[in-house]
Amino acid sequence: MGDVAFHTATTVAEALTLVGDGSDARVVAGGSDLMVGVRSGKSPLPGTVVAIHRIAELHGLGVVAGELRIAALASHAEICADADVCSGWTALADASALVGSHATRNVGTLGGNLMNASPAMETGGPLMVLGATVTLRSAAGDRAVPIEELWTGPGRTVASPGELCTGVVVPALPAHSGSAYVRLEYRRAMEIAIVGASACVTLDESGIVTSARVALTALAPTIIRSPAAEAAILGTDGDDAALDAVAAGASADARPISDLRANEDYRRAMAGVIAKRAVAVAAQRARGESFPIPATPVFMKGSV
Ligand SMILES: Cc1cc2nc3c(=O)[nH]c(=O)nc-3n(C[C@H](O)[C@H](O)[C@H](O)COP(=O)(O)OP(=O)(O)OC[C@H]3O[C@@H](n4cnc5c(N)ncnc54)[C@H](O)[C@@H]3O)c2cc1C
Repeated sequence: MGDVAFHTATTVAEALTLVGDGSDARVVAGGSDLMVGVRSGKSPLPGTVVAIHRIAELHGLGVVAGELRIAALASHAEICADADVCSGWTALADASALVGSHATRNVGTLGGNLMNASPAMETGGPLMVLGATVTLRSAAGDRAVPIEELWTGPGRTVASPGELCTGVVVPALPAHSGSAYVRLEYRRAMEIAIVGASACVTLDESGIVTSARVALTALAPTIIRSPAAEAAILGTDGDDAALDAVAAGASADARPISDLRANEDYRRAMAGVIAKRAVAVAAQRARGESFPIPATPVFMKGSV
């Protein structure tokens, strides 16, 4: 590794100056993805690294005019401990609560999770079913990117090298809505999703599903929606037949690969099982019934 220039920015403007104009600089937030990539040799450090953790504007989260606004440096620990996230945007709390260990959740940020663009990232699916928009800022100003348009492939986003993610905006959900994120994991901690599914459903007064979004994690080169699973639950009361159809739809929409952690057939079969669980928990929460956060351990009692 050659010499690396290390800067600590204290304002977004300062960081943008350092990463703009053809610079090869990369930003580092918590470093929990960046340094793993460097150490494994998969992603060598560039000539310049810009630390952004001291930029006050990029910290914090809260509800403004009904919308959830999360700044890029909000940590997973902060997100899953936030009462508003837990009650109103529960799938995101389910996800952040599963990231790595206590240490990983304390240093790992939402912006880093999203911009690292792993198809197995925890928070992307929940934010997709919750209809989030990501704010990217460059010297030219801010642009709002619907999260479904953020990723172009594993490790790739639509952000240009001179753009920073400053945060995420998540709209309020209608009454009688619920959301959930569930993953398949082989062990309880320090695991990434073998397969994951997120769901957000809205019910009418009689308990019929009037709106449904389902997203699949680690089942394609990027996180994807599952139109077949969504169609299967719409207009139903979430009974067993509808949930079985959700499972079939999710398996059909999945585009998994085989790797050392699971083969394609197993992932496709599990896509259905996990999507069915996510939809069932989201519907339960939409009905006002409580379900533990994170939801995953309830299903993974055998994991160690
Ligand atoms: C032991 C361990 C366990 C883990 N377990 C999980 C897990 O269970 N689930 C999971 O999803 N992840 C997991 N991770 C990955 C990682 O912790 C998360 O993805 C975390 O959210 C990354 O945030 P960070 O701030 O550390 O990112 P960094 O490493 O600082 O950055 C990651 C990438 O995003 C870019 N970046 C960061 N912030 C911005 C920004 N604001 N604007 C533009 N680009 C930016 C960086 O340049 C870099 O390319 C784990 C990591 C470790 C080391």
